[in-house]
Amino acid sequence: MPKQKIFVFHKIPEIGLKMLEKKFEFSKKLKGASAILSLLTDKIDARIMDKAGRNLKVISNYAVGYDNIDIIAASQCHIMVTNTPGVLTNTVAEHTIGLICAIAQRIPEADKFTKKGKFHGWQPMLLLGVDLKDKILGIIGLGRIGARVAEIAKQGFNMKILYYDKIRNKKYEFSSIKNILRNSDFITLHLPLLPSTRHLIGKKEFKLMKPTAYLINTSRGPIINEKSLVKALKKKQIASAALDVFEKEPKLASGLIKLNNVILTPHIASASIETREKMAVIAAQNIIDVLEGRKPENLVNR
Ligand code: NAD
Repeated sequence: MPKQKIFVFHKIPEIGLKMLEKKFEFSKKLKGASAILSLLTDKIDARIMDKAGRNLKVISNYAVGYDNIDIIAASQCHIMVTNTPGVLTNTVAEHTIGLICAIAQRIPEADKFTKKGKFHGWQPMLLLGVDLKDKILGIIGLGRIGARVAEIAKQGFNMKILYYDKIRNKKYEFSSIKNILRNSDFITLHLPLLPSTRHLIGKKEFKLMKPTAYLINTSRGPIINEKSLVKALKKKQIASAALDVFEKEPKLASGLIKLNNVILTPHIASASIETREKMAVIAAQNIIDVLEGRKPENLVNR
């Protein structure tokens, strides 16, 4: 019997590709593929599914978010969509905490300053930042990643956690989004990108935030209206922002890179060697399960 074909949009860590190679054939053509291995940057719509044809049984997304895939179209064609949740929770949470520390202590600014040869000796007022201890951290989206951020922030820095989520978590204090925006010293976003979460944070929301507030986003770029963010940062309506994700990735909103009060990382919150390898294993296993007739563990369109 001919081997089933897998269409891989981009290379993922070898460990996952090897698992697939043992059982299936990699195809350079989409047409006739039984499985697609996609990244969050690959837009998988009805046209792509149609192009693959009737053999297509599974789209395995190498990411936890799956807003790049038309889930309704996939379900209508009985194509299973899978993702790689869980294994990247801690890594993304650690990156989020890293950004919180970097923004509070102005680490990127201090690094540039020192490398430019501007350090001429200790000064009482040089590059003053803020402490995290006892500050209020507002978490919008207390799912896997949000909850891990809460845990590290609480245990590590004794931060007071306020959260908003459609599901309640008794461990922390629930609050409305408005209340979080008004009272938090740091606000971090951990929601999925949905029509209801797109531009959740824009002009109106920046007006509610404290001028000393810091905004962190490691979820999905379009949750923030990036144009409004640039304006808010320019006007010092908020103190600073740290972003790992952008509204029109990889493009950045005009004026964003010129600002001193923003830290930008290129969508690397899950980029640890260990995690990326674990993601590759899960993405491959999801394909193997479907093509061998088992229900995959990480099915998105149940
Ligand atoms: P999760 O599903 O565990 O958590 C999402 C939380 O959002 C859930 O608790 C859910 O109840 C809540 N939620 C969903 N819609 C809501 C709404 N409309 N209002 C209020 N609450 C709502 O997901 P996760 O694993 O924590 O990941 C969160 C997001 O982080 C992913 O969707 C993904 O887009 C993003 N992410 C980014 C990176 C990165 O590299 N920067 C890596 C992994 C995940």
